[in-house]
Amino acid sequence: MDFISALQTYPSFCFTVTLILGLLVGSFLNVVIYRLPKMMERDWQEQCRDFLNSDESITRLPPNDSKQEPFNLMVPASTCPHCGHKIRPWENIPVASYLFLRGKCSSCKSGISLRYPIIELVTGLLSVAVIYYVGINWNGLAALVFTWSLIALTMIDFDTYLLPDDITLPLLWLGLIVNSFSGFTDLPSALWGAIAGYLSLWSVYKLFKLITGKEGMGYGDFKLLAALGAWMGWQMLPQIILLSSLVGAVIGISMIVIRGRDKNIPIPFGPYLAIAGWIAFVWGDVINQSYLKLFIGS
Ligand SMILES: [Zn+2]
Repeated sequence: MDFISALQTYPSFCFTVTLILGLLVGSFLNVVIYRLPKMMERDWQEQCRDFLNSDESITRLPPNDSKQEPFNLMVPASTCPHCGHKIRPWENIPVASYLFLRGKCSSCKSGISLRYPIIELVTGLLSVAVIYYVGINWNGLAALVFTWSLIALTMIDFDTYLLPDDITLPLLWLGLIVNSFSGFTDLPSALWGAIAGYLSLWSVYKLFKLITGKEGMGYGDFKLLAALGAWMGWQMLPQIILLSSLVGAVIGISMIVIRGRDKNIPIPFGPYLAIAGWIAFVWGDVINQSYLKLFIGS
């Protein structure tokens, strides 16, 4: 408790601690973003193999060689993808190591992607922002976990068009648990937020499929909006949807401008939902009040 009260007494100390924590978590998120989709892929292959092998009429598939080596968030240790050089602890300091190594592997000198330090820095800064707006308390801690989960989901969806259940579902449960202590909204609002969040996108999906025969989004999107509803309550859902189309327009247009992106390449919806969700989480009430002022006048 002493540590908490020290943090509350010295906000600048608290923000520094949060920034360092955020940078370290950002470094871990880089691992999650890279490995979790690969872990899921392995899992699916394993399940398919088991399923096919359970059928006597099908010729047995040869044993999987990659099965022996463990692959998870901890094992194996991070290596350079070009030369296999093991990343040493001092090469793994968030942002600082990248600058010190001038963005190059210490062994083979091939370039390290700029996105690693960027994700670390963004995680650090958003962590400080969330503590600044939410406060130094249990809600602040919950808000940090919420923020980190959304960063991982955003990047994984950008890379792979997947929103892993391993993140969306615990996020949904955590939202309900936090709000059972009236963290950010009351429990009925959170519960109906989860239900309405899921069902609203599910209905859009069904309708879109009925009319066009195509699938416009994935089930991960429904689960993510359900999780956002669980954290903020059903009242915030319309604003999240509005904001996500705004975020989508901004990112979509800037991608076309910067990269001349082919409009036929599907753009995942999850990142827009996640970014809009975070904006609504931090500034939602402020935005709602300015809407009301606009219509009612003050
Ligand atoms: Zn290397």
